[in-house]
Amino acid sequence: METPVLSPLSPVAVGTVSLIGAGPGDPGLLTMRGAELLRRADVVVYDRLAHPFLLTLARPDAERIYVGKASAHHSVKQADINDIIIEKAKLGKNVARLKGGDPFVFGRGGEEAEYCRERGVPFEIVPGVTSAIAAPAYAGIPVTHRDAASSFCVVTGHERDDKRESGTRDAGEAEQRRDWSKLAHAADTLVFLMGVEALPDIAAKLVENGRDANTPVALVQWGTWSRQRVVVGTLETIVEKVREAKLTPPAVCVVGEVVNLRESLRWFDDPVTRPLFGKRIVITRAREQASAFGEMLRARGAEPIEFPAIRIVPTEDTVPLDDALKQLSTYRWLVFTSANAVPIFAQRMAALGLDSRALAGVKIATIGPATAAAVFDYFRINADYTPEEAVAEAVIEGWPDRNLAGAKILLPRALEARDILPESFTSMGASVTVIPVYETVPDLTRADALREEIANGEIDAVTFASSSTVRNFMSALTNGVEMSAKELLANVTLASIGPITSDTIREFGLEPQISSAEHTMPGLVSALESFYREQ
Ligand code: SAH
Repeated sequence: METPVLSPLSPVAVGTVSLIGAGPGDPGLLTMRGAELLRRADVVVYDRLAHPFLLTLARPDAERIYVGKASAHHSVKQADINDIIIEKAKLGKNVARLKGGDPFVFGRGGEEAEYCRERGVPFEIVPGVTSAIAAPAYAGIPVTHRDAASSFCVVTGHERDDKRESGTRDAGEAEQRRDWSKLAHAADTLVFLMGVEALPDIAAKLVENGRDANTPVALVQWGTWSRQRVVVGTLETIVEKVREAKLTPPAVCVVGEVVNLRESLRWFDDPVTRPLFGKRIVITRAREQASAFGEMLRARGAEPIEFPAIRIVPTEDTVPLDDALKQLSTYRWLVFTSANAVPIFAQRMAALGLDSRALAGVKIATIGPATAAAVFDYFRINADYTPEEAVAEAVIEGWPDRNLAGAKILLPRALEARDILPESFTSMGASVTVIPVYETVPDLTRADALREEIANGEIDAVTFASSSTVRNFMSALTNGVEMSAKELLANVTLASIGPITSDTIREFGLEPQISSAEHTMPGLVSALESFYREQ
């Protein structure tokens, strides 16, 4: 049978190729359209400028094809990338081609789109936040400013920036046509991409063609990434400074008076407001609780790395909890020793058709502020009692209702937990109903990747918010390898939320360098801040 000739617009079983601007690094700078297409993609084609987090947006079963640096010497050529894209689309797959920054700003997106058009493969372009504007912005440099610049111009330095990566950066026709006498005065602000290797040439040509040698210049390497580095100088001094700093691509080079604004607008790497800048800090809490903590770390400049060594799994047998819920009003106290129990409790209440009114006569105690916040979120009820310090001993020490003779107490909690609370309440005369509503199980999904990052010195600290996360983390980390936790973590700072968690860390032969005075997540963040301020 003859193969049908595809007209560019014919509705056939061909997948769509989306050329998606991945933004300059910070995953939050991906557009919503880009995220939507990533989630829908059958195949994701990406290179080294795409943040690893973006790949997690794709379906677990989506095929991920890396076309950046394959090894030190070998790499995928542009023609091969084009062929991979077309081949997958012709199999009827939707292809997400993730490209750093904006696909049409020196991204060769135009060529990939032409290639699709010629072969009858439908495509969509999703513009992205270009590094030409975003990298300077994350260095506190606006490319225009009412008082400093009324125009900007983006130019290729046309270095073979990714020659080690994809072997494709020979100058194109247009790039060879650059006219320096015009370029030097093309705009108040000049932004050079791919300009690190050619910097000596760029600086010299701009001065030769009449730009003042004192014009401020900044190089922003890995802009918007936590490893961002910025070097500032003038057209006269910048080459030497960049050499001293050993700055390598990828970096954006900004030339113009706007560079001076960094003095007042520096924010991303500002040591005062963001004392944790550049620190890569592992969060070992279960995914369910990690995001609020991650946000706190991010606000102080750190890059949170989620490593949920455990997952929270609700207890399968709901009968004991349901039975207790049916007679909720007979309990004097309901005690939550973890925020994890709250949503599960709320979910069972809802399943039984109960709402917050069922808790009307019941007093609620919570172990700490995060658990109290969860109770408020789910029930709009303020806890009656939260101890000063978020540990079981403190719950008992400050317990407001000492005469518990004949009182019933409900304690929905983890399968494995200490006995101090039920024992103490019983000795005060209460009848205690302990109900395991969830258990924590190990989650090994990211262990290999994390071990590698630790070995490469890419992890600054690991945080622990409970003894169980210590145990789970250590067992996930050492799972299937010959090394002990002590050996693996020798060069990593360990941060603990409090004394009990610290003791558990010591069981593994390790000493936490940071122990939070206040046993809460904000307390842990402050402890990290003071630790790094003193460094
Ligand atoms: N399409 C991309 C540019 C691709 S060319 C965009 O719109 O951003 C590759 C060049 O982009 C690099 O050599 C570097 O100059 C610049 N670049 C990309 N990401 C960068 C980042 N995070 N920080 C600094 N420069 C970056």
